[in-house]
Amino acid sequence: MPAPYDLTRDELTRLLEGEPAYRARQVWEGLHARVRRPGEMTELPAALRASLEAALPPALREVSRRTADGGQTTKWLWALHDDARVETVLMHYPDRVTVCVSTQAGCAMGCQFCATGQAGFRRHLTEGEIVEQVAAAVREARPRRLSNVVFMGMGEPLANYDRVWGAVVRLNGEMGLSARHLTLSTVGLVPGIRRLAAETLPVNLAVSLHAANDTLRDELVPINRRYPLAVLAEACAAYVEASGRRLSIEWALIDGVNDRRSDASELVTFARPLGAHVNLIPLNPTPGYPVVGSPADRVRRFRDDLRVLGVNATIRATRGADIDAACGQLAASAPGEAADTATPAGAVQLLPGARGR
Ligand code: SAH
Ligand code: SF4
Repeated sequence: MPAPYDLTRDELTRLLEGEPAYRARQVWEGLHARVRRPGEMTELPAALRASLEAALPPALREVSRRTADGGQTTKWLWALHDDARVETVLMHYPDRVTVCVSTQAGCAMGCQFCATGQAGFRRHLTEGEIVEQVAAAVREARPRRLSNVVFMGMGEPLANYDRVWGAVVRLNGEMGLSARHLTLSTVGLVPGIRRLAAETLPVNLAVSLHAANDTLRDELVPINRRYPLAVLAEACAAYVEASGRRLSIEWALIDGVNDRRSDASELVTFARPLGAHVNLIPLNPTPGYPVVGSPADRVRRFRDDLRVLGVNATIRATRGADIDAACGQLAASAPGEAADTATPAGAVQLLPGARGR
């Protein structure tokens, strides 16, 4: 059975064959512009409503939902039709409402520090499965209006390019989300970045860098062996040039690994020519990686070092750390399992600088 947001408009029209011609438009707008389930489309006759509800069951079944930050953050764990699991996080801020969506069940990129990478790849999500995560967030956010979508949940968006781009086009064209408020985050898949540069919708691009020398990056982010920093920088420059958007660089600060002064100056060498903005986030602990995030004072010093050297940097507030909803913390596990894995920030800090004297 098709998922509601996997249907094209033509497919929907065919599904409604025998109904008055305006029904297809009504249902299409009901799904996208108004973000309703078929069963809630009271403008339709009851029998049609019921048959559409049966013909277009949701793609996402809620397995669990948890909230944090005084109700400002909600994380869902969904089961898909084949029982693959993915997560979605909704975050309310004073000035915006953002949803973080998954693009794959698992991920094949194998970044060591990432819970999703540790779990391995299961499959790509369909366009409809991606869009439906946003639809769920739109509904949950009401009466506030969902303003931003970040493709920073489970999976590598540019490894699932066609479906992700299909979702971007649908969110923008049919659901009214501005391209400026859509952000794709990539580990640095150069062919995908180049394709993106040729698109006409200027979405934001975030590159998860974490290291700005090839030796360290090869280790932390294995895809760097295929697309090393020099090649990545060229593709990023082409994107900035073509889209006119500012590039973001994501940097998860790992205690004693990539939070030294030398790391900051290498990052400056990469970021400054691109005019990129750096988002710093202390690494969230994951069960499969025996290193912890940098302590808060080192995070601030790293930010200050970047600023002094002419690179804009902000420390990203971690949202939902107590429900493992922070970015990169998403690992679809059985309900309940994920709850106990978070180490309280700063619990095990062995500062290389601390001397035993
Ligand atoms: N695959 C894409 C998008 C999903 S990961 C990418 O890598 O960009 C979203 C972000 O979470 C990335 O910046 C990723 O590097 C970061 N991340 C992964 N694991 C993390 C962890 N344990 N702590 C902090 N950030 C993490
Ligand atoms: Fe995949 Fe991104 Fe995690 Fe790397 S950080 S394993 S690319 S989800």
